[in-house]
Amino acid sequence: MARTDSSSSFSVSEELKLIPRWSIVLAFVAFIGIQYLFYFVLHQHHTTPMAVHVYFGTSWGALVAVYMLMIGYISQDAPRRNMGKWIWIMLCIVLQGGIGPVIYFLLRQPVLSQCPCCGTHIESNFHFCPQCAYRVAPNCSNCHESVRITDLHCTRCGHDLAEDNTPARLRAYGA
Ligand SMILES: [Zn+2]
Ligand SMILES: [Zn+2]
Repeated sequence: MARTDSSSSFSVSEELKLIPRWSIVLAFVAFIGIQYLFYFVLHQHHTTPMAVHVYFGTSWGALVAVYMLMIGYISQDAPRRNMGKWIWIMLCIVLQGGIGPVIYFLLRQPVLSQCPCCGTHIESNFHFCPQCAYRVAPNCSNCHESVRITDLHCTRCGHDLAEDNTPARLRAYGA
């Protein structure tokens, strides 16, 4: 998933692309399975009209399918927020009635920042992108200590940051 912009604007199509193929397959299989259960298994043993089975079959099928897609989404969304994905998948399965996903969306952490160059997830303590070595945090060109964009001198070695040819602290912000 390579993104060229560093903006964190929320886009639904971008979010939907996160849903992995296995969860789409699982949702499809679950939907078909529930149709089978309602039409062929339950219908044979009850005298309820077919229309009732069609109604419940479709609505339950859709509900379970959406749930599968939700779990698929969480499995992809949790890692980029540095949240344990298996814990959340388990919670979604154990807590029935959609409580798991509700808690997840209430508690989820912000997306970790991405490398503006290659889209790799960057943690807050990274100075360089682990994939493409893009400088993601301002630092001293002498000792590579992190500096603030407003600093004039390195707090560790006293290096004059203005001496850096295009100061590193500005280069990190695309100046
Ligand atoms: Zn990168
Ligand atoms: Zn320094």
